[in-house]
Amino acid sequence: MIEVSGLHKAFGNLEVLKGIDMSVKRGEVVCIIGPSGSGKSTLLRCVNLLEEPNAGTVLVNDFEMTDPDVDIDKARRGIGMVFQGFNLFGHLSVLDNLTIAQRKVLKRDAEEAKSVAKENLRRVGLEEKINSMPSQLSGGQQQRVAIARALSMQPAVMLFDEPTSALDPELVGDVLGVMRTLANEGMTMLVVTHEMQFAREVADKVLFMDGGVVVEEGPPAQVIGDPQHERTQTFLRRVL
Ligand code: ATP
Ligand code: MG
Repeated sequence: MIEVSGLHKAFGNLEVLKGIDMSVKRGEVVCIIGPSGSGKSTLLRCVNLLEEPNAGTVLVNDFEMTDPDVDIDKARRGIGMVFQGFNLFGHLSVLDNLTIAQRKVLKRDAEEAKSVAKENLRRVGLEEKINSMPSQLSGGQQQRVAIARALSMQPAVMLFDEPTSALDPELVGDVLGVMRTLANEGMTMLVVTHEMQFAREVADKVLFMDGGVVVEEGPPAQVIGDPQHERTQTFLRRVL
């Protein structure tokens, strides 16, 4: 599903990713943890080629993202992405947020796009907000709409970059609940998160990144529960 090998990325002479190898198999949930500046977002952005790697290969759903001849629009259709900020179109209703790409990119007619939108709003528990404007929703609701919008494109994999870190604490649980349900339904997910409890309970595999490399990886009980590396131990002592 996702296969990254020998990935390098630098911004000018700042080397941010120094040879990353990682994979997410179909139906797997992989969580990436690590300190600020370790390259987690850059890795995620290289997966859908929002950043262009300097070296290495990225395969996603049988597309080689790093092949100069790849049809990048087509390749990206299979990848849903949810960021820290909610990134909804503020001037569009919830319904229009969920249907615009379906209509423009997938060429679905209004009827079909609306029914897919409704179905995905139901999945995130926000059917009744279909006619609201983003500004009328709480941060947690906006983030659930952003998830529903990504799901409306029927992606094969979902990337999440700290989807709850901009939320008030009392709103975090609802968003994590939606992600947990998605995971249980078998969605393939790559999730950057600081929510250790979520990673422990939901992840099949946890990667600890520091300084542009994967320092340690394995099942959550191992990486979070019984970390072997000094850097992982120090990080976890600070966040747990
Ligand atoms: P955080 O937990 O704070 O989100 P992160 O692990 O996601 O951190 P990245 O956002 O991947 O870290 O950034 C890694 C490093 O790359 C940082 O030093 C950052 O300043 C730098 N960086 C990221 N994007 C750019 C860019 N577009 N131009 C220059 N430097 C960048
Ligand atoms: Mg980041």
